[in-house]
Amino acid sequence: SNTLTPSFDGGVFLGAAPAATTGLVEVSGVSKSYGGIEVLHNVTLTVQPGEVVALLGPSGSGKSTLLRTINHLESVDRGTVTIDGTYIGYERRGDRLYELHEREVLRRRTQIGMVFQNFNLFPHLTAIENIIEAPVALKRATRAEAIEQAKTLLSRVGLADKAGHYPRQLSGGQQQRVAIARALALKPKVLLFDEPTSALDPELVGEVLDVIRDLARVGTTLIIVTHEIGFAREVANRVVFLDKGHVLEQGTPGQVLGTPSHPRTQEFLRKVL
Ligand code: ADP
Ligand code: MG
Repeated sequence: SNTLTPSFDGGVFLGAAPAATTGLVEVSGVSKSYGGIEVLHNVTLTVQPGEVVALLGPSGSGKSTLLRTINHLESVDRGTVTIDGTYIGYERRGDRLYELHEREVLRRRTQIGMVFQNFNLFPHLTAIENIIEAPVALKRATRAEAIEQAKTLLSRVGLADKAGHYPRQLSGGQQQRVAIARALALKPKVLLFDEPTSALDPELVGEVLDVIRDLARVGTTLIIVTHEIGFAREVANRVVFLDKGHVLEQGTPGQVLGTPSHPRTQEFLRKVL
């Protein structure tokens, strides 16, 4: 009953809404296909406020797609995703979901911060300009307020002295720390990291992991796609293992990384450890 059906009364009928949600992030029965190939299969994931979830799995298992469904950069074919009880892309009326206009989707999406493998900073803006861009554009703060807040964020990621530097003048690790500060500028309820250290030279990985570790310590809700198994074991409350679009297992780091129950998890860990 959760299949996309033709337009209904100006909106799109997506099926019955799920029961009242409890998690900050609720992914419920999500399936997603590209060109007839299913890349997410009936994925259910609940993330509580303050939880740190590490999402592991082989290349192509659907990790990035899952993150992108959480902030509605991708729509789903089946199932629902809510953030703090609300949909990013839909409005619920009765038992039906209607597609929202793009402007409202963008507004709601600001509840979720995202950090990408390749930093994705605006190359023509300095570090501090990158950080204030969204708060100013969305009128969340005056320019002066945004600058003050951005300075605080730059200090927090150890880059107080780099405010006027352009991305090309910064190392990969520094760029990624600016990207994290930028993601924090709209005070998101949850931060999504998609392989945040995969593009970095090995000696720069630690400084980025330190920043993420600090976020975890102060109770920021995080979902982190990473191949840094040691880091996942250290900071995650929960590890979710994805394989071919299926959540094969999830549990504490001790369970999933220490005594994985599924042969494919065991095989993956043998390869990356
Ligand atoms: P991961 O992040 O775990 O490496 P992805 O979520 O990027 O995996 O991809 C999962 C599968 O979906 C892969 O087979 C990939 O080729 C496919 N895929 C991802 N995005 C698209 C897209 N926009 N169009 C078609 N196929 C896609
Ligand atoms: Mg990926």
